[in-house]
Amino acid sequence: MAHLLLVEDDELLRDGLCAQLMHAGHSVDAVGDGAQAQALLESTRLDGVVLDLGLPPVHGVPMDGFAVLRWIRQRLPHLPVLILTARDDIDDRVQGLNAGADDYLTKPFDMAELLARLGAMLRRSRMPAFGGSLQTEGAPQHRLRLDPQLPMAWLGDEAMELTHREWSLLTLLVKQLGQVVGREEVLAVWQTQAPEGGAAGGSNALEVYVHRLRRKLQDSGLGIRNVRGLGYMLELQAP
Ligand code: CA
Repeated sequence: MAHLLLVEDDELLRDGLCAQLMHAGHSVDAVGDGAQAQALLESTRLDGVVLDLGLPPVHGVPMDGFAVLRWIRQRLPHLPVLILTARDDIDDRVQGLNAGADDYLTKPFDMAELLARLGAMLRRSRMPAFGGSLQTEGAPQHRLRLDPQLPMAWLGDEAMELTHREWSLLTLLVKQLGQVVGREEVLAVWQTQAPEGGAAGGSNALEVYVHRLRRKLQDSGLGIRNVRGLGYMLELQAP
């Protein structure tokens, strides 16, 4: 199983989570603030992090979960991080995903859901392609690869022509491969970007962009499924 770091300042919750994660077969280091988290990350090889966003200052210096996340992303760009947000605050979730979190859960959450999300996140991080590219089961010319640094996407050897909105939609879908990406999550990310060709946001625009992206992914072995009332899911299609 995985070696995890749990960063949570609420002692009761931390102990409970720690026990459950260990019960699920993981080995866990649990700490209560950002400085302890950094010390552990520097000294220990970890497979993943569960990170609370609301963390106390350290020696009077503010160090919330976002600060820890940015620190992790600079040093350990491929370490999977699942953030815990105190409330269903879309700004926190979007800010967290933009800062490089791989997934998030809103408190209070169901332990079974945390374990399922964590398992999926760890599986994705073990996919050889993830963190730079995503390998589909199709033939090499149909493999999808993303480079977030550039940012660019390729299908086989062909660079995909994507608008900013298509790029962020594709990135969200790829990061949560096999999971539903909520409509509001996509729209919230778009809101942080410049408007595109004067197009208004909203669900109708989202459908248009999903349609375009589907066409661009045709024959890629990847499909975008519409999950009614919830959002969209990227999935590997049977060969
Ligand atoms: Ca907290």
